[in-house]
Amino acid sequence: MKRITIIGGGASGTLTAVNLLRNSGEGPLTISLIEKRTEIGRGVAYSTDHDLHFLNVPAGKMSAFPDDPDNFHQWLLSNGFDYAASDFVPRKLYGRYLRELLDDAFANASPNAVINIINDEPENIVFEGDTANVILRSGEKIASDKVVLAFGNFPPPHPSVPDLRFTEQPKYIRNVWEKDVLSVTDKDDAVLVIGTGLSMVDVALRLNDSGHKGPIYVISTRGLVPSVHKLGFNYEQFNDTLLKFERITDVLKEVRKHSVASSDQDSDWRAVIDSIRPATQQLWIGLPIAEKRYFMQHLSRHWNSARHRMPPQVAERLEKNEDGRRF
Ligand SMILES: Cc1cc2nc3c(=O)[nH]c(=O)nc-3n(C[C@H](O)[C@H](O)[C@H](O)COP(=O)(O)OP(=O)(O)OC[C@H]3O[C@@H](n4cnc5c(N)ncnc54)[C@H](O)[C@@H]3O)c2cc1C
Repeated sequence: MKRITIIGGGASGTLTAVNLLRNSGEGPLTISLIEKRTEIGRGVAYSTDHDLHFLNVPAGKMSAFPDDPDNFHQWLLSNGFDYAASDFVPRKLYGRYLRELLDDAFANASPNAVINIINDEPENIVFEGDTANVILRSGEKIASDKVVLAFGNFPPPHPSVPDLRFTEQPKYIRNVWEKDVLSVTDKDDAVLVIGTGLSMVDVALRLNDSGHKGPIYVISTRGLVPSVHKLGFNYEQFNDTLLKFERITDVLKEVRKHSVASSDQDSDWRAVIDSIRPATQQLWIGLPIAEKRYFMQHLSRHWNSARHRMPPQVAERLEKNEDGRRF
C-alpha cells in the first residue's frame, strides 16, 4: 500500500495527484490532498473570478501534460469556450480545468486507488520509523509513506523600513491574494502599489474595472513593468550552448546576441526568451551560488519583465482607461 499525502491543492498539488492517479497501475494507492481553501485546483493564481484576469500564456501552451500539448485548448472547446490556441483566456477557467482533470483521473483510476480531499491545514509532521504522520488542525493524523509539499509561494514580506506601524492600518494590504483591494478602498482613494509585476497589473485592472476614480501609483526598484506578448514568432533553441556557461553574464551575453539576431531572422526577442524556457530550470540548478546572487540582485527584474509578459488586450486596457486616464 502506498500512502501519499500532498499538502496544498493548487496547481502543483492537484497535478501531482492527477499524475499519481494516471500512473498508479493496479497496486493500492491512497492519496490525501490537503487544502486550506475551499476549492481544489485553483490556488492563488486561478482563484480569481475576474474576467480580465487572464492567463499570461496562450491557451495552446497551457496544457497540463507535456505529451499532449493541446489538452487545455481541447478542454476549452469541448466545454463550449470558443477560443483559438493563440488566445489568452481568463485564469478562472484554468482552475476549473485542473479540478476536472483530477475528477477524470480519479474516475479512470484503478479501483485500488483512493483520494481523500481534506479541507484543513497541517500543524505538524511526526516521524515514526519510515512513516510520516501528518497531524491536522482538526486533530486527525494521516499516516504517510511520502509527503509532498505543494503550498506555493510564501506571502510577500512587508517593506523593509524601520517603522512598520503603517502595516496595522486597515487600508494596508500585505498580500493582495488574501484580501481584495476593493474591500478596503473608496472610489476616490489614491492607491499605491509596491511592485510593478503581473500582480500589480491585476490590481490596476480590478480597480479600473470597478470604476475607481482615484490615482493609482506604482513603484518598484527598477520601475520595470511586464513586457507585452507578441505572438506568432519562433526561434531555434540554443540551450546546449547556454548550459555550458557557468557565469550568468555569459548567459546574458548569449541571450542578448540572439535577441539582436532575431530581428534579422524575421523573429522577435520574445521568441528567443521563450526558446530558453525548457532549459531555465537546469540552467538555474547548475549555476554557482555567487552567480545566482548576482542574478537576483542585478538581472532578475529585467528577466521578470521579459519573461512574465502581459497579453496585448491587458496592456491596451492599462494604457488607456475608458475615461481617458493614462496608466
Ligand atoms: C496572480 C498570478 C497569476 C499567475 N498566472 C499564471 C499564468 O497565467 N500561467 C502560469 O503558467 N502561471 C501563472 N502563475 C504562476 C502560478 O502560481 C503557477 O503556475 C502555479 O499556479 C503555482 O502552483 P502551486 O501549486 O505551486 O501554488 P498555488 O497554486 O498557489 O497552490 C498552493 C496551494 O497550497 C495551499 N496551501 C498553502 N499552505 C497550505 C497549508 N499549510 N495547508 C494547506 N494548504 C495550503 C494554498 O491555499 C494553495 O491552494 C501565476 C501566479 C500568480 C500569483
